[in-house]
Formats: sequence, structure tokens, C-alpha cells
Amino acid sequence: MSIQTLVPRLADVGGIPIARLLPNKGKKPIGAWCFLDHAGPAKFGLDEAGMQVGRHPHINLQTFSWMLDGEVLHKDSLGNEQVITKNQVNVMTAGTGPARGISHTEQSVFPDTGGSPEASRAISMVQLWVALPTDQDIEPSFHHYPKLPTWSEDNVEMILTTGSYTSVTGEQYQAPTIQYSKMVGIDVYWQEDGEVTLTLESGFEYGILVNEGEIESEGNLCPQDQLLRFYDHDVANNESIKLVAKKGTRVMFIGGEPLNNQVLLWWNFVADNKEEIELAIKDWNNGHERFGDVDSDMKRLPAPVLPKGFRG
Ligand code: MN
Repeated sequence: MSIQTLVPRLADVGGIPIARLLPNKGKKPIGAWCFLDHAGPAKFGLDEAGMQVGRHPHINLQTFSWMLDGEVLHKDSLGNEQVITKNQVNVMTAGTGPARGISHTEQSVFPDTGGSPEASRAISMVQLWVALPTDQDIEPSFHHYPKLPTWSEDNVEMILTTGSYTSVTGEQYQAPTIQYSKMVGIDVYWQEDGEVTLTLESGFEYGILVNEGEIESEGNLCPQDQLLRFYDHDVANNESIKLVAKKGTRVMFIGGEPLNNQVLLWWNFVADNKEEIELAIKDWNNGHERFGDVDSDMKRLPAPVLPKGFRG
């Protein structure tokens, strides 16, 4: 097995500093996971609105939100309104093909603006995108998962956010989360200094996003907001991933089977061909009904045109 450490590109989404690990120069999807953002951590004063992401569309992907701190209200063009809080997953599926799409808004909420009484004036959110297999006919949908399989291994807490997983001691876990290709995502949190062993599946690609603290794996150090990527793991010979970290460290372990189609990304769009992205830009900017309407007074974000020579 070989391991590579990748650094993020820093950006801003809805007023919050984010570390973007995918897409990035020379970085391919990990299975169908094609976009990895960590928004925050950020704290907000009493006069601050927090993260405010106006109406925008998606195609051929799922947004996969995993909260570490704070609360966010999601509203979409299917009529869903859902507050997501710590240890919960939201999955919004845009649907596949040139006739489908979805749009949504995301905004921080606090006890006085629709959040729970415990909502902190802060945000730390992992937002991942999952590229959809474009050879499947997939309808738009939205799912909220407040309860997920949770267990501990030697003072390391694991939460299975999607997929199935067999622990090193043979216990099997299954998350309820909707999937269109085989993938796994596990939140791993060290309650004490220690080591954990993660098992692997054949045919999967794997990476680790470090959300808090830093980890070490086979002599490779990976600081916060960097990505460890694993190559050529020998699952037939029971090869696994060992991680060492200090108390308080939190990572997201992701993996999955690569898709058969190519994955092009532009702005909030994913497609297997450039024409479908160009059509989505045109349709969104012309208010086409495929993207529906969100019951919100937040501003509509215009789609930027494709640069000349775009290859994805
Ligand atoms: Mn979005």
C-alpha cells in the first residue's frame, strides 16, 4: 500500500472559511466521493448570521452533509425543510440526466432563528458530494438520518454515516443511508490517545479527511484539513489501515467503488459530459422548471459560464 498526503485549497462559502480537498489539481474522486469540503470551524457573534448559502442548483450528484458543530437549516425545491445537527446526515439527491435537477438553500440557525435550544453560535460541517452513476435513471430526493450505527473500539468512537462495515474483530454494521454506488463513510473520534485499525474492501478506493487534530498512518503525518489517500492496498492479504492519534482527533474515513463514467465538475454541477454542464448553466440562469423553486427569500446565485477549453 502507498499513502499520499494532499493539501487543501482554501475558499469561502456563504461567508465561512472552508478547506476544499476535492476537487483539486491532480486529485481524482475517491470512489464516487468527488468533492470534499470542511466548512469552519468558525464561531459567530450575537450580531452575525453565520453561514448563509443562497439558492443554487445541483445535477448528477448527492450532497452529503455531516455536522460536527452548529446547526444548519436546509430547504429544497422538493419542499423539504430540515435542520441538521451534530451526528446527523442529510443526503440530497439531484437526480440524473439533462431533464433533472434540484435547488436548495443552507443557513446557520440558532436558538432564536429556528435552531434547537442547544444550538451553538458556531459551525463545523463536512460537506461531501457523491457523483451519481449516470447510467442509472435516478429521481431527485432528500433524506435525513438522525440515528446512525455507533460503536467504540479501544476508546475510539466510530459512527457509520453510510454503507456497511466489518470491524477488525468481525462485527458488522449497516447504515440506512441511500446509495447508488457502493461506498462507505465513517466518522472516527479519539476519546483517548490511541490507535485504531480500519478494515478494507476489495475494489474500493480510500481516503481520510482530517477534521480536527492530526493523525499518523504508517509513518505519514496528516495535519488538520489535509487528506490521506491510499493506493494499491492488498485486501486479499488482509491489508488494513492503522491510524494513531491523540485524544480529541476526529477524521472522516471514506471509500468506495469507482464509477464507470467520467466525473466532470463545474460550480455546483457534475456530469459525464461538457454539454450537460453547459445546458444546466443555461437552464438555471433562465429559471428553468427542472430546478424547481425554494420557499426562501435568500438570493439566487447565478451560474458562472464555462471557461474556454474546459475539460473538467
Ligand atoms: Mn449545495
